[in-house]
Amino acid sequence: MPVDAPLHDAAAGLAAVSARIRAAETRWGRPPGSVHLLAVSKRQPAAAIAAAWAAGQAAFGESYVQEAIGKIDALAAHPIDWHFIGRIQRNKTREIAARFAWVHSLADVQHALRLGAQRPAGMPPLRCCVQVNLSGEASKAGLTAADLPAFFDACGGIAGIDVCGLMTLPEPAAELSVQRRPFAALRQLRNQLATPARPLPVLSMGMSDDLEAAIAEGATMVRVGTALFGPRAPA
Ligand SMILES: *Cc1c(COP(=O)(O)O)cnc(C)c1O
Repeated sequence: MPVDAPLHDAAAGLAAVSARIRAAETRWGRPPGSVHLLAVSKRQPAAAIAAAWAAGQAAFGESYVQEAIGKIDALAAHPIDWHFIGRIQRNKTREIAARFAWVHSLADVQHALRLGAQRPAGMPPLRCCVQVNLSGEASKAGLTAADLPAFFDACGGIAGIDVCGLMTLPEPAAELSVQRRPFAALRQLRNQLATPARPLPVLSMGMSDDLEAAIAEGATMVRVGTALFGPRAPA
């Protein structure tokens, strides 16, 4: 097999994940098509992304800026929506602002200011979700619920970014009822924070193992890697 060939049938993976999403929409009374799929392609080769793109997938999520830029350049002929979902480093904000359509992991006002200022003129505002750390563990990325009102006040006037929702990455859990708890909490936080001027329509939550639970609780975007592409290359 050529080194760059996908290790997994991306078209079959995409069909399977899309079927899970459609089934969950039906089961939980969500309008058909209301849950969008972000294909998480970190540590997957560009050829796997190209295969999924050819099968109809347009939005891809990456966690590491340098790795992503190699793939963005390799796939420049494809009109892909690139989403940054990894930890933001201050010295990478310029590249994120220039190369991505979305950021899911905003959790720092200084990063928001830099991303807004560095968003190139002529590009639409960078769409941003605020990452929320629901367990409150200091080692986890994201803002706590208590941090959010001040964060939204500070980000409100920044040109170049559009803060449009919340994202969370909970601890894995086996049971649906346990998986649903943090997703319900994120939805409730969004409902508390949303205003007519700041509707926060996006809930970025749910991955390969818990996307049904996230859809039950109102996810509008699920971020799915392994179930779509198969196992990732080691870090
Ligand atoms: C890797 C990753 C995912 C996808 O995880 P899978 O379990 O492979 O579906 C989703 N969100 C974030 C933030 C990630 O880093």
